[in-house]
Amino acid sequence: MKYAILSKGDSKSNALMHKMKNYMNDFKMIEDTIAPEVVISVGGDGTLLQAFHTYSHRLDEVSFVGVHTGHLGFYADWLPHEVEKLIIALNNDPMQKIEYPLLEVIVNYETGRPTRYLALNEATVKTNNGATLVADLDIRHTLFERFRGDGLCISTPSGSTAYNKALGGALIHPSLDAMQITEIASINNRVFRTVGSPLVLPKHHTCHIKPVTSGPLQLTFDHVTSDHRNVTSIQCRVADEKIRFARFRPFPFWKRVHDSFIASSVDT
Ligand code: NAD
Repeated sequence: MKYAILSKGDSKSNALMHKMKNYMNDFKMIEDTIAPEVVISVGGDGTLLQAFHTYSHRLDEVSFVGVHTGHLGFYADWLPHEVEKLIIALNNDPMQKIEYPLLEVIVNYETGRPTRYLALNEATVKTNNGATLVADLDIRHTLFERFRGDGLCISTPSGSTAYNKALGGALIHPSLDAMQITEIASINNRVFRTVGSPLVLPKHHTCHIKPVTSGPLQLTFDHVTSDHRNVTSIQCRVADEKIRFARFRPFPFWKRVHDSFIASSVDT
């Protein structure tokens, strides 16, 4: 089996990565950073997001596994003391593959070619200088509302427990092919009005965010932030591609939600 392993870069994650490499060599697994079948991230959810973006061009061939060296992660759910068990399972057990939906974003500009991005958690749209974002939100090519505020967040189901949750969005089970639009501090008064509630769109619905005011936008795709000039529209839809996770034991989504957000506060 060909594998790639990515570390968060801190001493604990690096040490665990080296330990795992030695163990995987004993199993005659081959390290192949170009064409791996399994990609293992060692660190936290941020490390898994980095691994996803590194191998997002090979989603059909790759299964991801996350090991966490900090607190329990949503994507990184194997503990450091379990890595021997994980490697034995990788070699001996039938690999169950769980697929999660992704977000496709196409950014269109006044001139030049559109650019396409994939996000595992979410994309956000803001201005790059903290000024109010004024943008028309079209759903299925029909104007839904003119948004004024800090920005908009468009998340995947598995990203619904991340930034989207902090914005008051719903938690969505990743077996649903959907995307969610949440407002980031919208301006609502007698003059300006937005719907104020998160919107959940199915796979066959596309939305366009069309900036009304000029000026550069700041766009994020998961942990990656960049400025974009002369944007005419940002098109979002559920991607055709999916991310695949290798599973060797059940760890249901709602149990992960419970363990991450409820259990520790009740138990301590
Ligand atoms: P980071 O180091 O700031 O970590 C953000 C936190 O989000 C970490 O605790 C991580 O475990 C958690 N997280 C990431 N994905 C998650 C998911 N799908 N479900 C539940 N928790 C999740 O940044 P990072 O590690 O580079 O991660 C980038 C992510 O941070 C972005 O995709 C965004 O979702 C999140 N973020 C959250 C907020 C917020 O909650 N106010 C603000 C900005 C970004």
